[in-house]
Amino acid sequence: MIERIKTIQERLSKENIDGFLVTCAENKRYLTNFSGSASWVVITQDRCLIMVDGRYTQQAADECPAEVEKVHISDFLDGFPKELPSVLHQLKIKRLGVEAHKMTLLEARRIEENSGAVILVSTTGWLEALRIKKAESEVTLLRKAITLAEKACAEAIEHIKPGVDEATIAYQIVDHLGRHGCKEAFDSIVASGERSAMPHGKPTTRKIQKGDVVIIDMGALFQGYHSDVTRTVCVGEVSEEKKKVFEVLQKAQEAAYKTIRPGSAAKEADLAARKVIAEAGYGDYFSHGLGHGIGLEIHEAPTLRRTSDQVLEAGMVVTVEPGVYIPGKFGMRLEDDVLVTETGCEVLTTLPQKLKV
Ligand code: ZN
Ligand code: ZN
Repeated sequence: MIERIKTIQERLSKENIDGFLVTCAENKRYLTNFSGSASWVVITQDRCLIMVDGRYTQQAADECPAEVEKVHISDFLDGFPKELPSVLHQLKIKRLGVEAHKMTLLEARRIEENSGAVILVSTTGWLEALRIKKAESEVTLLRKAITLAEKACAEAIEHIKPGVDEATIAYQIVDHLGRHGCKEAFDSIVASGERSAMPHGKPTTRKIQKGDVVIIDMGALFQGYHSDVTRTVCVGEVSEEKKKVFEVLQKAQEAAYKTIRPGSAAKEADLAARKVIAEAGYGDYFSHGLGHGIGLEIHEAPTLRRTSDQVLEAGMVVTVEPGVYIPGKFGMRLEDDVLVTETGCEVLTTLPQKLKV
């Protein structure tokens, strides 16, 4: 954590910026380990402060390294800590970096109005650029989040049978994760029958029927880290076409894995998977990108898309999630989480891909 702060401080001094006001929750956590909500982090070229009010004094003391100075907020003014202008003044901050993508125009104006001669500059993406490659400690947390998700997913799949509705299956996931001390990384997708052709079908009270395809897309949020797993199952009899599409998706994943290694363009994975699906005649039905990074956010860099210009590096963790969605019939998706290693990649998810239930 201290290394992360130092990296930002070096960049501040290189770019001649006096301070950086971090307002993105995930970035504050990445820098200081603080997991609460209302808080403001200010980094200067040689200091790092976290401002919290009475609700979080104890939590900040427990979670943040000693090097992160704690500043008490007595009250709020226009949505900002009353102490912010004086802190910026004391720290002699003239040029202040802000995360423009996480700040409204109104908030930016308020800082300028209340803080005298402070000039706002954009430090957008500085922390995201660090977060793209995971440290070993982060990979450990992601592995844990994946294991938790897989267990919940496996249990939910066990409940899939004719007569059970989608919402009940989705609730199994919430219930399982809650009992294991974590929660959903996002609202689970459970879509059955024709509804499975919607890539992001929300669970409804539709009852699952014999012969239905059911897509479950879910993840666990563990100590700030998100996993993301999709399994597709077929209830009872499996038609030839469904079997074929399922196998095409498995082959598409395999083709993608062969391209995932340090130095490889992120778009290569998408193109490789897309080629397999197109050659099987389903090219028009793969309507989204192949994958995305996971970490403190459920969707983060890099993206595995045809249009991506990112290059893979060891330590990145991405999803590989090819899908085929045939309107009016059915849809299928398989999603696994993959770590880019020094020599290639490691598939972190181990939940079996079993079509028939
Ligand atoms: Zn997913
Ligand atoms: Zn995903």
